[in-house]
Amino acid sequence: MDCIFCKIVSGEASIHSLYQDEQVIAFRDITPQAPVHFLVIPREHVESLAHTARKHSPLLGHMLAIAADLAAKEGLSEGFRTVINAGEQGGQTVQHLHIHVLGGRAMGWPPG
Ligand code: AMP
Repeated sequence: MDCIFCKIVSGEASIHSLYQDEQVIAFRDITPQAPVHFLVIPREHVESLAHTARKHSPLLGHMLAIAADLAAKEGLSEGFRTVINAGEQGGQTVQHLHIHVLGGRAMGWPPG
């Protein structure tokens, strides 16, 4: 399987790591869309949010908790945006579940 995020998990691809534990890795997005833009991914290869099942609920909760912790550590006290793109129409380009955390500027709504 040719998954760039699995290569990050295995250490084959390098990242600017923010956090790692036995379940997740967080790192800066290579093409930042805001002054702060990082991703939280599971070590397990799950294709997208649409491919999760009830058994993934603890993992999904942990990913969100880490996203919030890191947003605070990154100084995003005035707010931040979390995004989970799923599937082609959802704008997902990497087929490995990930949460985007964006902040450091005002985020428009609705997204384009
Ligand atoms: P999505 O479009 O939601 O699938 O988002 C995928 C994100 O992964 C994009 O924002 C990319 O810039 C980011 N990305 C892809 N490859 C890497 C990489 N090697 N290191 C960090 N971020 C990456």
